Amino acid sequence: MKLEKLLSLPKVHLHCHLDGSVRPSTMLGLLKADSSIKNIEELLQEVAVLDKTSSLEAYLKKFDIPIMVMQTKENIKRIAYELIEDCNIENIKYIEIRFAPYFHCKQGLSMEEVIQAVLDGANEGKSKYGVEFNLIVCFLRHESYEKNLQQLYVAKKFLGHGVVAVDLAGDEELYPADSFVELFDEAKRLGFHITIHAGETGNFNNINKSITLLHAERIGHGTAAMSSEETMELLYNRRVPLEVCVTSNYNTGIITRLIDHPVYNFIKKNIVVTVNTDNNTVSNTTLTNEYSKIIDNFKLTDSEIINTILNSINYAFCEEHIKERLRRGLVEVTDKK
Ligand SMILES: [Zn+2]
Repeated sequence: MKLEKLLSLPKVHLHCHLDGSVRPSTMLGLLKADSSIKNIEELLQEVAVLDKTSSLEAYLKKFDIPIMVMQTKENIKRIAYELIEDCNIENIKYIEIRFAPYFHCKQGLSMEEVIQAVLDGANEGKSKYGVEFNLIVCFLRHESYEKNLQQLYVAKKFLGHGVVAVDLAGDEELYPADSFVELFDEAKRLGFHITIHAGETGNFNNINKSITLLHAERIGHGTAAMSSEETMELLYNRRVPLEVCVTSNYNTGIITRLIDHPVYNFIKKNIVVTVNTDNNTVSNTTLTNEYSKIIDNFKLTDSEIINTILNSINYAFCEEHIKERLRRGLVEVTDKK
């Protein structure tokens, strides 16, 4: 598939972190005048992985500056608005934006104010560009149960009003799924959709447990699934989609070459695959670029690519009438070609 056609396809983005997708030019403008970072090149060294890092931990260091500038309502609102604007540029018609409200309370904002600021910015973008969105609230594995529970109840106030789901992110080895049963039981009881970062590094057990213990309806990354027959069967039998993020997995050293990524095998084994960036800025990529890389490395056919977009529509956490509109939009463009 040529780039032009790829751009013309109406796309859906399910796994995108707001703090990992701040425009570098915006960050540079928001940094204080006394910052030692004076230009985009210097900034990119700090906030983006231009090739690989040593580990997931090193990758996560790249979020320090974006989180630092996302401590006021105005900045958060602007950054959410610009993410919607960026969606419009590459013809993304629906996005699920994820973030951890408690990361943005370091200078006095409440979690409610943070969520409201993201909603305000994204709604302004939606009004201007027609890009639909929903929000996913992230829990961090290293935070206390009490803090995560508190965030859950704040998110509940916005459930059905822009927030649709919760997510769990962070170090899977130190904090495996078992410790989060109570939190996710409560999230399910309250009516949230659930997606969980699991099997991003080598641990396929975390994928199994996220599905069987934590009610995960989608799995973030899931790269480790290939090394377990049982996990592959579970994903297939329960039709649990993977939110695949190829460049991010390369950045963190989980795969040494893009061609080693299991995405092709997932597709061939009829696992539900969706294509995502994880972080537009930290991974120095776009959704279109992720599709391009997959096409170049694995020679996927047009229908296989269109099918992954359909997967993203079908497994999005939005209302059915939005899914129908997204499907119609995709059919209109693909029929024309
Ligand atoms: Zn992620």
